[in-house]
Amino acid sequence: MKVFVIGIGLIGGSIALDIKSLHPDASIFGIDSNENHLQEAINLGVVDAGATYEDLLHADFVIVSVPVDVLLKVLPNVLDAIGENTIVFDVGSTKTPICEAVANHPKRRNFIAVHPIAGTEFSGPSAAISGLFQGKTNIICEVEKTTFKLQEKAVQLFTAMGMRIRYMDPISHDKHIAYVSHLSHISSFMLGKTVIDKEKDEQDIFDMAGSGFESTVRLAKSSPAMWTPIFKQNKKQVVKTLEEYISNLSNFKDLLEKDDFEAIFNEMQSVNRIKEILNGINIKK
Ligand code: NAP
Repeated sequence: MKVFVIGIGLIGGSIALDIKSLHPDASIFGIDSNENHLQEAINLGVVDAGATYEDLLHADFVIVSVPVDVLLKVLPNVLDAIGENTIVFDVGSTKTPICEAVANHPKRRNFIAVHPIAGTEFSGPSAAISGLFQGKTNIICEVEKTTFKLQEKAVQLFTAMGMRIRYMDPISHDKHIAYVSHLSHISSFMLGKTVIDKEKDEQDIFDMAGSGFESTVRLAKSSPAMWTPIFKQNKKQVVKTLEEYISNLSNFKDLLEKDDFEAIFNEMQSVNRIKEILNGINIKK
């Protein structure tokens, strides 16, 4: 089996590691615009060797794992280069613009649009982790636009990697993911900013920060190069979630100013049911 990973960072590298452990005989090739990342991926054994777009003609799988703005440019070129039986999937965190970018491509049926809901705040091949996708959800969009035989091949791989499959249209994906992923990142970035702006002595923050602060600002370590194009592509949905979030923050501030601690208590108590909601999701997984 010949597998090519374009963008051999956290997600592409983690997929490469899983494929290698599931299929030890597979040859895994990396293509990356960052020469250091490619060399690092080879040194770490994440991929076997580098490759070029000309080599894609003989690929079984091509995984495109580059930032979402880059995806719009490279996906049509990847589809131009592949053979009749190659399956290509992206892993981008937005889905509508990506599906639109290849909608009329003659090889659209060789492409499956995917978003594995798994990751960390780190980037590059050294961040790749084997087993990252175990028990995680994989959203597949517009599955009907992919040749059935190739759909099956991709789904078999995702299932073998331990992922639960959910099918969704790209607009619903972008709407829902704005709440559970994009807003969480903005919230974490702006919490980090608020504290850094106020507490100029970073050592003090470090000394006083408990695990609550650390877990809440974890996402603020994420790569701006990856997140700026995500916010740009999903701007409409992200603005909507931000409006709702800002309104909740303002409401909380108003209650505090009015000394309405009963309402504050009730607000927090009603949100406490997030425990049951998240437990229910984890049990289903
Ligand atoms: P990453 O660790 O930064 O890896 C991306 C790699 O692609 C980097 O080595 C980057 O090089 C390279 N690259 C950039 N432009 C390229 C091009 N034109 N051709 C080939 N390689 C190129 O990023 P990641 O976190 O794996 O994210 C990759 C994709 O997964 C994104 O679409 C993201 O939306 C999606 N995703 C991410 C997460 C997450 O938690 N991180 C979760 C699910 C899905 P440079 O570093 O030099 O730019």
